Amino acid sequence: MGNRIAPPVAITFMHILETGFMSSLEFAPVLYLRYIDDIVGVWTHGIDRLNHFFNCINAYNRSISFTMESTFSTGQLPFLDTLITVYPTGEYTTELYFKPMAAPIILHFTSAHPMSTKKAVLNSQIKRAMRVSSDDRTRDRSVKRVKLLFEQNGYPTAMLDTSIKNNLRKRSERKTRRNKENEIFMRLPYLDENVVRRVNGVLRRSKTNIKVAWISGPTIGNKLISSAFSKPPCPAGTKHCHTCESGLKGKCTKKNIVYKITCSLCERNGRTEFYIGESTRPVRYRFNEHLSDARLRKPDTPLGEHIADSHFNASSTEINSAFTIDIIGWGRDSAELKITESIKIRDLRPTLNMMKSSWPLARKP
Ligand SMILES: [Zn+2]
Ligand SMILES: [Zn+2]
Repeated sequence: MGNRIAPPVAITFMHILETGFMSSLEFAPVLYLRYIDDIVGVWTHGIDRLNHFFNCINAYNRSISFTMESTFSTGQLPFLDTLITVYPTGEYTTELYFKPMAAPIILHFTSAHPMSTKKAVLNSQIKRAMRVSSDDRTRDRSVKRVKLLFEQNGYPTAMLDTSIKNNLRKRSERKTRRNKENEIFMRLPYLDENVVRRVNGVLRRSKTNIKVAWISGPTIGNKLISSAFSKPPCPAGTKHCHTCESGLKGKCTKKNIVYKITCSLCERNGRTEFYIGESTRPVRYRFNEHLSDARLRKPDTPLGEHIADSHFNASSTEINSAFTIDIIGWGRDSAELKITESIKIRDLRPTLNMMKSSWPLARKP
């Protein structure tokens, strides 16, 4: 190192070594990162296999010899400008690291450079200290190290404190903005406090940015509101409406519902074959699509495959009246509908669902 050609040569050499060596390994590191010829990794196969790995990588090419440090003895490991600390719980923190032998020298405050250059150097060092730190405690320690370094180089404390304060403010503004941008809202039906506590616990531990709005079931209020507006009548008028005739009797324009379609041809033979689905559109559109799939015996559709498998010779007229439909659930949006649908599928175990479009839920024992 030190020569200008050295880094590209080192990078090329390491790349060739890695591609050959790593593919021959029985036990490999779960994380492997390299900066030129400094490598950091996570090893989960025990100290003996790590030593074996180290001996192998050193024997791989005689012109290069590695040294190794690990967190096994002290729990700490410096990598470039970052100190990694691993705790017995498996958690880890990172913070700014200065090599112990490095002289505490940086652009001196009295040197003949424009003030803007000195401010920029200070700013970039504080930013780096904050960036490599994993939490508030390590961040405070890292910033303190930078502050000491600049004090030793003649910088006034007030200037250091202002820069630290500005960077802290910018960071927290950025964090708030990022959190707001990534916030995901999810509606879940309210069951009881126990469920709320458990779901919130899972979300907290997952560290995802999901906010839950707990929706209560139908109240007298919504019932009054929905009955205050008269339902749009069946648009078929005096003509045939397959949906109304198959059981919905004037309710074929309902949307945001979970429905159940039962095969009456099978029912006549004493078998129960049914399908559960959901629709955010008026249910008559969905039902007509199902009937069309059935008439065409369309593959990969529940009713198309059922007709092909069980009633292959049925005529189109027979198929149009071969099914009955019921509304068995409702939701306010597609998320709530999917949940209701999944619960119904879990509890009623429809025979014709291919379980592709719904969210699989854990089965009841
Ligand atoms: Zn209708
Ligand atoms: Zn059938």
